[in-house]
Amino acid sequence: MMKGTKSAKAEIICVGTELLLGQIVNTNAAWLSGQLSLAGVYVYYQTVVGDNPDRLKQVLRTAVSRSDYIFLTGGLGPTQDDITMACTAEVAGVPLQLHQPSKDAIAAYFAKMNRTHITENNWKQALLPETCQPLPNHHGTAPGCIISMKTMKDDCHFVLLPGPPAEMQPMFHDFVLPWLTGQITSRLKHVFVRMAGIGESAAETLLRDLIDQQQNPTLAPYASTGEVIFRITQSLSNTEDEDLIQPLLEEIKKRAGPYIYEIGRRTLPEVVRDLLSAAGQTISFAESCTGGLIAKQLTDYPNASHVFAGGLVAYQNAIKRDVLGVDSGIFERDGAVSEKCAVAMASGCLKLFKSDWAVAVTGIAGPDGGTVEKPVGTVFLAVAGHGHTQTESLKLVGNRERIRTLAALNAYRLIRRVMNESAI
Ligand code: ATP
Ligand code: MG
Repeated sequence: MMKGTKSAKAEIICVGTELLLGQIVNTNAAWLSGQLSLAGVYVYYQTVVGDNPDRLKQVLRTAVSRSDYIFLTGGLGPTQDDITMACTAEVAGVPLQLHQPSKDAIAAYFAKMNRTHITENNWKQALLPETCQPLPNHHGTAPGCIISMKTMKDDCHFVLLPGPPAEMQPMFHDFVLPWLTGQITSRLKHVFVRMAGIGESAAETLLRDLIDQQQNPTLAPYASTGEVIFRITQSLSNTEDEDLIQPLLEEIKKRAGPYIYEIGRRTLPEVVRDLLSAAGQTISFAESCTGGLIAKQLTDYPNASHVFAGGLVAYQNAIKRDVLGVDSGIFERDGAVSEKCAVAMASGCLKLFKSDWAVAVTGIAGPDGGTVEKPVGTVFLAVAGHGHTQTESLKLVGNRERIRTLAALNAYRLIRRVMNESAI
C-alpha cells in the first residue's frame, strides 16, 4: 500500500525495438518485478514497446489511466532512437530543459574514460523535465529521473531508468528504492528458507497447512530452477511490530530441518564456499556430464580463489584414464557412467589438484545415450577427501539443461553434507 492511495498500482514499460525483435531478452522487467514485489509494490502490467514515439506515448497514456507508479527502462541514451525522456515529458506535460549537474556528470564520465571527443548528441541526455527528481547514473552517461504528475484521480509517478542492466540496477537500488520506501506506509520483511534434497511437491506437502493458514506472516514457495525455496513475509506497520517470523521459522525447521541449507540469501555454492573458507580447505571438480557447470557456479561469486583449486572437464574416457587415472577396466566392466567411475574420478581429481576435497560427476544428460539399465538422467556423484568417500546415484528427470542443473545442485548438496558430517 502506498501513502494517500489505498490500492496503489504499478506497471513496467520496457522500451526498445530490439526487445520486440527478440534480439535481447527482457531481463529488466523480470528483475524489476522481483525487486518491486520484495518492496511490497504490486505490479499489474508489463509492456514492451518499440522505439516509436506515437506507440510509446499511447502506451504511456494507457499506463497513466490505470497505474500510480510507472517504471520505464531503455531509450534514455544519446541516439535518435532514444525517445523515452522526450515522450514521457510530453505525456506528463512538462517541458525539457538543460540540467547542468547532469551535463557536468556526462563530461566527467567521458573524462574518466579518457574520451576527449564528445559528440553533440550526448548533451541530449542532460535534457530533463523541468520538474523532476534526477537520478544520477554512476555507471554510464544517461541520467534517469522521477516525474510526478497530478491526474484526475491521484498522483502518478514515472520512474525512468536506463536500459543496460548494469546501469539500471544500481540506479534502482541507490536512488529509487529509498524514494519508494518513503512512499510506502507498510513495510514487508522477508526471510528466505532454502532447501535441497527434497522435491518441491514433497516440501509443499510438508508445509501445506502453514502455507494455507498464514495471514501475516505469509509462507509461499519462491520460484527457482531445481531448488526449493520458501519465502516468509511479514507485513509491518511500524518498526516496533513484534517479530512474527521467528515462530513460523521454528515450526518449518522442526518439519524440514535436515533439508534446510540456508535461512537467508546465499545459494548452495555460496554456502559450500563459506564452509570451505571457514575450514581453510580447498575443493576441486572432475566433471563429465555437467561440462564445467559445477566449477562455473563456484566461480560465479567473488572470493572463490581461496577455496577453489581447479576443475577438469573429463569428457572422453581417454581423459578420465590419462589425466585422472581411471582404470580402463572400469569402462569395460561398469561403464563410464557408473559409481565406480565416479569414485575413481574423484580420487584422481584429489591427487591432480592436491585439494582437500574433490567432487566428481558422471551421467547421461540426454537426449540420447540412455539405455534401459541407465536411462537419461542417470547421474553418479562421488565426493572424496579427508579419508571419506561418499557416492550417490541419482535418477533425474527433465531435458538436458535441467538434468545438468540438477546434477550440479546435487553435487553441492552432497559436498555440503559430507563436509558437515566430517566436521562432527
Ligand atoms: P544507452 O545509453 O546504452 O543507449 P538506453 O537507456 O538508451 O541506454 P537502450 O538503448 O534502450 O537503453 O538499450 C541499451 C542496451 O541495454 C540494449 O542494447 C540492451 O543490451 C540493454 N537493455 C535495454 N533494455 C533491456 C531490457 N528490457 N532487458 C535487458 N536488457 C536491456
Ligand atoms: Mg539507447
